Amino acid sequence: MKVEVLDHGYVELVEAWGQGRIELEKGGRDFIDGQQFGNEVIDHEVGIIEAARQSTQGSFRGWDQDAKLLKYLYEHKHLTPFEFSGMVLEVQAPIFVFREWHRHRTQSYNEMSARYAALPDLYYMPELPNLMERGNVDTRNKQARADHRHPAELVDSRAKTWLAAVREAYDHLERLYKDALADGVPKELARITMPVGHYSRMRTSTSLRNWLQFLTLRMDPAAQWEIRMFANAVAQVVRTTFPRTWQLFCGDEHE
Ligand SMILES: Cc1cc2nc3c(=O)[nH]c(=O)nc-3n(C[C@H](O)[C@H](O)[C@H](O)COP(=O)(O)OP(=O)(O)OC[C@H]3O[C@@H](n4cnc5c(N)ncnc54)[C@H](O)[C@@H]3O)c2cc1C
Repeated sequence: MKVEVLDHGYVELVEAWGQGRIELEKGGRDFIDGQQFGNEVIDHEVGIIEAARQSTQGSFRGWDQDAKLLKYLYEHKHLTPFEFSGMVLEVQAPIFVFREWHRHRTQSYNEMSARYAALPDLYYMPELPNLMERGNVDTRNKQARADHRHPAELVDSRAKTWLAAVREAYDHLERLYKDALADGVPKELARITMPVGHYSRMRTSTSLRNWLQFLTLRMDPAAQWEIRMFANAVAQVVRTTFPRTWQLFCGDEHE
């Protein structure tokens, strides 16, 4: 599953876990009503129940009985069982989004290295309506441009001029980078002129519990719009891969 984000970004599911032992047991498939992957039926939430039942040495009993237990665990914040499911994602995003994302220390990361590989020629260009809208409405987000120390209102023509200048700067920096590589400047130094609007690519892995924590913080309107778009894409993957937990996470309002 791959979700496109912004102009060149994406979030792609690499793998998910949480099947528990039941898949391996004879007849276990009868219990499973999870996702269809080719001919395989895979349920990534059984492992949550199995982990919870470890305390009584019990096992998964089927969702007709265990949906109630999942709800109980979630609502009473017995959250460690949700660490027994999880997923690995590949993400392509601007470097400034990664700067925010990497603050989530409980995820494991591996990012492409500009020391060893030439970076892709991909730069983030905000769109005009988005640029205008954010400047003028979002008063809750202190990180955004609704900063009263800078009362200037962005007008359409200035926004267009700025976007054109950004494009020009990107083109210039890309030429500088390519010329440096062609001249034999080592990749690890040629990259020093790369702006934070440049796209990079990483793989990130964590448990379902931590993915929900990430979504709570980064789907919130207080988070910067760009990382919010990525969080929404992660949410789509969570919804498909862990549908029962997703419903509990959303509560009544999204059911
Ligand atoms: C809107 C917004 C604005 C932000 N602005 C800034 C900013 O200006 N500057 C900045 O530096 N960061 C900023 N951040 C990042 C923020 O401070 C957190 O680092 C980030 O959201 C990750 O949250 P976390 O610590 O819960 O996640 P993780 O690092 O994934 O940790 C998950 C949980 O593990 C536990 N944990 C992890 N590490 C420790 C530890 N060392 N000690 C104790 N418990 C731990 C905590 O319970 C934590 O909630 C911002 C985040 C948001 C959402």
